[in-house]
Parts: sequence; structure tokens; C-alpha cells
Amino acid sequence: MGVILVHVANADPAPWIDELRRQAPDLDARGLDAVGDPAAVEVAITWKLPHGLFRTYPNLALIQSMAAGVDHVLADSDRPAHVPVARVVDPWMARSMVHQVALAVLRWHRRLDWVEAMRADARWPTGVVFDADAVRVGVLGLGHLGQAVARAMQDLGFAAAGWARSPKVIDGLDCHHGPEGLRALAAWSSVLVCLLPLTPETEGILNAELFERMAPGSLLVNVGRGGHLVEDDLIAALDAGRLAAAALDVFRTEPLPAGHRFWSDPRIYLTPHIASEINPVTATRVFVENIRRIRAGDAPIGLIDPAKGY
Ligand code: NAP
Repeated sequence: MGVILVHVANADPAPWIDELRRQAPDLDARGLDAVGDPAAVEVAITWKLPHGLFRTYPNLALIQSMAAGVDHVLADSDRPAHVPVARVVDPWMARSMVHQVALAVLRWHRRLDWVEAMRADARWPTGVVFDADAVRVGVLGLGHLGQAVARAMQDLGFAAAGWARSPKVIDGLDCHHGPEGLRALAAWSSVLVCLLPLTPETEGILNAELFERMAPGSLLVNVGRGGHLVEDDLIAALDAGRLAAAALDVFRTEPLPAGHRFWSDPRIYLTPHIASEINPVTATRVFVENIRRIRAGDAPIGLIDPAKGY
């Protein structure tokens, strides 16, 4: 049995290696510094392995992303194309994502910033009505996370609809697809939630053309990837009042540089890519299962299609 390489960009892989050993003591899990013979590497479990390294492991049998997305893996053009790539599919992550999106939608809908400002001035308004019927949540991406979010929005009593690449029939949910479907969904939505994978087709999809179709005062929630958003178009839409606020968890450059204008813009609800961090215990269960499957000649959970990019 080969080496299980564990690499987490900008972080110590030790807690992950310990958890792998705890759940599967027979696995030979190691960090990048302790790999030894590259030919011994059988599985790479990684978040942002430096580009060019995958191809140095001639016996690599699985690339396991430490995330729901695989854009960081596919961005390595030297990646050996024959090695299967799997992403994390974990109900724990879906629940966390639901909480993050609900937090943003409720903050905007219940005008929490306005409420806090009144508190600061000890003001006590009367006749406040929050119009829940005006909350129409359009979810871009109806995969594992997007469907969970759309359902949760319905459970909160809001209208929800979605958009995917392929035509879909999901009970109780209006599903759109294609460019026309995207335009229709944007025109219908007062909240747009991006839960798409980052691919050449979805890069820059959150742009002026989309925002112009939305009702004034809408909310954008980007929990997909920073590359989905055209930042200048967002600022213009906020300045024009087309968008009232944007909840951003992901950014083109991460960590977001200290001087970036998003840090100080009160219209932006900013979180540091924490919408749905993977859980070491539950994600490691997926890793262990996928190693078992690869060794048995079975397809791993979360196997992606490199041609589609997700
Ligand atoms: P998933 O199950 O693979 O679902 C992806 C969805 O996007 C599918 O419905 C797919 O359509 C749709 N899609 C892909 N390309 C499209 C296109 N060109 N046009 C229209 N729809 C398209 O992925 P997931 O697990 O839900 O995760 C989604 C993304 O969330 C990840 O890729 C990642 O970028 C992001 N994410 C962020 C965080 C965070 O902490 N901020 C955490 C986890 C994930 P089909 O159904 O037709 O294939």
C-alpha cells in the first residue's frame, strides 16, 4: 500500500494526518516534507497542492480535493489526466452552507444593520413590517449544496427557484437552465445565491448584465468562488442601488488583501471563506472510504468529470 500525501496550503497537515491515522491506523499518511520516494505516493489529499507536483507522482491513483470544489486541482495544467479526481460531498458541509446563506438572507431581509444603527441611537421605531413575500431566492447551482440551500429557504417561508447546467425536475422547485433561464431567474429573484463551481463557463458570471436584471435593492450572496464575481460591476450595482448589499465569503485573491475596498464597505457582509469549512472528522470518513474504493477498483464518492470542470 502506498503513501497517502496530505497537503493543506498555508496550514499544518498534522491534525488531518492524525485524524486519518485515528480512523484508519493502517494508512501511511504523510505531509509533503515526509513523502520520501515520489513513486510511493498513491493518493494525494490536498487543498491547493503547488502546481506541477501531481505529475511527479508516477503511481498516483487518486487526487482527493479537501473541498467541495476542484478548481484548485484542475487549475494545474500539468496534472496527469488519467488520475481520477474526487471532491468532498458531506452533509455536514451542506448544513453549514445553509446556515451561512440563511444568516445573510435574514440580515438583509430583517434589516439588521438598520436595527443596530437604531440601537446605537436608542431609537424605537413603530409599524415595522418585514415583507417576507418579497424575498425570492434564486440559487445558481442546484447540486449538493444549492439544493440544500433552496430547500432551507423554502423552509424559512421564502420563495425559492434555481438554475443549473442541465434541465432538472425537482419537486416543488422551479428549475431553470441555459442563458435564457439565467436571465429569467435573475429577473424573478430579489436574492441571488451563487453556489456554482468555478469553471471557464461560470467565471465572471456575477456581472453587470445579471445585476441589471434584478429588482432594485436586491441581495447578492456569493458563496461559490471569488472568480465568479466581477468586482467592479458589484460596486457599480451597489452604487446604483440595484443591489442593496452583497454577502461575500469568497474572493479572487484569498486571503483578501488588507487594503482591498471590500473590507471597509458597509454594504458588503464579509466573511473569510468560512461558509462551509470541511470538518476533519466527517471529511476524513469520506477520504478513508475513497481510499478503500480506489484500492478495490471502485469509483470514489464525489468523482468529478474533468471535461465539465466539476
Ligand atoms: P455540485 O454538487 O457539483 O453542483 C454544482 C451545480 O452547479 C450543479 O447543479 C451544476 O449543474 C451547476 N453548474 C455547473 N456549471 C454550470 C453552468 N455552466 N451553468 C449552470 N449551472 C452549472 O457542487 P456543490 O457541492 O453544490 O458545490 C458548489 C460549489 O460551492 C463548489 O464548487 C464550490 O466552489 C462552492 N463551495 C464553497 C464553499 C465555501 O465555503 N464558500 C464551500 C463548499 C463549496 P448540473 O446539476 O446540471 O450539473
